[in-house]
Amino acid sequence: MTARAEDLPARLGTSQNAVSNLEIGERRLDVLELRPLCAALGISVEAFVARLEHVLAKDPWRSTSPQGPYGRAPPGSTILTPMETAMHTPRITRRTFLASSAAVAASTTAHPIIAAPSRRAPSLSRSGTLTGRVIWPQGPDYDEARLTFNTRYSRFPAAVVVCDTTEDVQNAVRWARQQNIPFRARSGGHSYEAFSVVDDGLVIDVSGLDATVVDTARGEAVVGAGVRLLDLYRHLWNFGVTLPAGTCPGVGIAGLTLGGGIGFLSRRYGLTCDNLLAVDLVDANGDTLRASVDEHGDLFWALRGGGGGNFGIVTTFTFQVHPIAEVALATVTWPWDDVAEVLDAWQRWAPFVDNRLTASLGIANPGAGVISSTALFTGAPDELPTLLAPLLAAGTPSAPQIQSLPFMAAAEQLAGAGGGHANFKNTSALAYEPLSPQAISTLVDGLRAAPTASNLVGLFPLGGAIATIDPAATAFPHRRALFDLQYQAYWWDASEEQTDVAWVDDLRAAMAPYTTGAYVNYIDADLPNWETAYYGPNLDRLMQVKSAFDPDDVFNGPQTIPGHGS
Ligand SMILES: Cc1cc2nc3c(=O)[nH]c(=O)nc-3n(C[C@H](O)[C@H](O)[C@H](O)COP(=O)(O)OP(=O)(O)OC[C@H]3O[C@@H](n4cnc5c(N)ncnc54)[C@H](O)[C@@H]3O)c2cc1C
Repeated sequence: MTARAEDLPARLGTSQNAVSNLEIGERRLDVLELRPLCAALGISVEAFVARLEHVLAKDPWRSTSPQGPYGRAPPGSTILTPMETAMHTPRITRRTFLASSAAVAASTTAHPIIAAPSRRAPSLSRSGTLTGRVIWPQGPDYDEARLTFNTRYSRFPAAVVVCDTTEDVQNAVRWARQQNIPFRARSGGHSYEAFSVVDDGLVIDVSGLDATVVDTARGEAVVGAGVRLLDLYRHLWNFGVTLPAGTCPGVGIAGLTLGGGIGFLSRRYGLTCDNLLAVDLVDANGDTLRASVDEHGDLFWALRGGGGGNFGIVTTFTFQVHPIAEVALATVTWPWDDVAEVLDAWQRWAPFVDNRLTASLGIANPGAGVISSTALFTGAPDELPTLLAPLLAAGTPSAPQIQSLPFMAAAEQLAGAGGGHANFKNTSALAYEPLSPQAISTLVDGLRAAPTASNLVGLFPLGGAIATIDPAATAFPHRRALFDLQYQAYWWDASEEQTDVAWVDDLRAAMAPYTTGAYVNYIDADLPNWETAYYGPNLDRLMQVKSAFDPDDVFNGPQTIPGHGS
């Protein structure tokens, strides 16, 4: 619960005057007073410190020291009071404080709300209308709402608006443009680089658009842009159908689809975006627009692999769906020393085997002791031993563990292997040819040099239905790649960050001569020449679509597609 202003004296057991003196910076705070003050304000001390760091990092003159950090505040600078820091606000008047406290109280009870005056930056909210569930920095849900899946990042948006309707999204785009602040769309929040959360801007969260409507007669599903993968699989399963998509339960359908969408059913049914029939979105003017083969065909082309956050904010996707029932899951492991032989056998088999079979390969560092392959097969389990034979001929594999189970149970098992929040750095590359012995030994050397047991390389086969589509037919360019590689590092102790990130950077560079491009959904802020890496020969057409549908580059952020002339 966030405190109302008038409750603070009672909560602190002090007078109104004492609170006022703190508010206006008249009195400074003893460190021992910080804890009860934070408690009274409904914010943890940790969150207070994080916000303070954020504010000071952006403007070191806004110090709690009247002289500024370097002894003298520059003319016109403001001094940050502890109360302001707790609320993540600039200096305020008592009137705006009370008004915003009322707004916070309203936001916890009324839904949807019309945006009340923002305490953080009162000028922001005076024009335009922000609707939906609006979460301001002083609100009780703010610290959860600003969380990013990759906990390596900690960002402080000016506000988060959770949209329940298309109108909420329209209002949010218009409002952010009126305020001239940056904004980002967020669906599942799983961007590797946390690109869906922006400092000092508006996060337009579509998680309230979470309906899925299945039309079994047409074999179609209309899916809200805020639906997450495991929920989607469960909903579709009730109708005996599914969609080829990713494995992680919390990944959002929007980010996944817009970048392509690779999963265990993609060799059979294509990328997630290959199953798209239509997309409804809110454009740069806040207007709604439908894209399909028949309407705005160029935009529809770009939305199938061009990556999230580039052309508009999607509100619904219409997909074709596929009947699904029982499947088989198989797992095999090998001793780590078999790595080169197994990798070579896998790459000559997994992209070419029967489309109904998809087998990933996971290679942790030698400390893990084993390497493993997980396979999903949509045919009869008794066909599997023959299909797996070329892979099992390599090295000294364990006896394959094969289970026959309902697809939904398989999806849950695969999702369970996806892991939880962590600090991480991942990047990707694509192999268009089998890796040469030299390339394999470079990869193996990289794995041997991994700094911790949680570094690994994941390989996932393409081919099958993905490769039957021309690379220029949608924006996803890597149709002819045999498999993708992900160089992955995870850490929980901040002291490991530098070595882990360096390991990923070094492996990416060492493997560059043997690989091509990268997958935009495994977005990497440090990737050299990211435009051509993600989009290859499709970049030019993507830039044309960008110029046509977002000429003012309203949807911009790190690694968004530039228009022609920008
Ligand atoms: C644990 C994990 C497992 C993964 N597994 C797979 C996998 O199996 N297969 C695969 O292909 N990928 C996988 N990915 C990558 C995943 O596809 C991308 O990270 C994807 O961008 C996440 O989408 P999101 O909606 O969850 O993320 P968000 O962070 O919400 O969004 C990602 C990008 O899309 C934009 N965006 C979000 N919503 C919208 C919208 N409504 N309209 C327009 N733009 C929008 C955001 O601004 C951002 O730029 C995985 C990622 C993680 C973290």
